Amino acid sequence: MLKKTNCPFCGSLLTKKICDGRNRLFCKKCNEPVYENPLPATCIVLVDTRERLLLVKRSVEPKIGHWCLPGGFIEIGESPEKAALRELKEETGLSGRIETLLGVTAATSSCYNSILMVAYLVKEYAGLPVAGDDAMDAAFFEQDKLPEIAFDSHQSFVRIYRAAY
Ligand SMILES: [Zn+2]
Repeated sequence: MLKKTNCPFCGSLLTKKICDGRNRLFCKKCNEPVYENPLPATCIVLVDTRERLLLVKRSVEPKIGHWCLPGGFIEIGESPEKAALRELKEETGLSGRIETLLGVTAATSSCYNSILMVAYLVKEYAGLPVAGDDAMDAAFFEQDKLPEIAFDSHQSFVRIYRAAY
């Protein structure tokens, strides 16, 4: 887990203090709490014309070697939609068009503490899946033959898709 031990404003070592009812990181020099927020990320539920689901096999931690939805972190100056389609392209080689927002959830992460996950549905795309950045494989799966999916948030978006479409 990433730990913030120094104040981002003055560089002093942080302590902990109860502020606004929560045990927060606190800078004694600034006399202010340091607020922590979830890291914004995206993922994509992409289905082909046979209703098969696209998954990528992770080549990086966390959950190396496990299958998950394509996706990744939103970069500064990037819209969530653009980030999702960029990650899709980087990880699978596919160019997609976003159909709709599937949902937003807060997920806990072993590496990043807390993630705000924004999921989109993609049904129109171009290309054939080829594993790229952060992926050792990319493939379509029949929905009744899905492998174990690495992240709870990704599993929930697959369930949301299957219940609604
Ligand atoms: Zn400070």
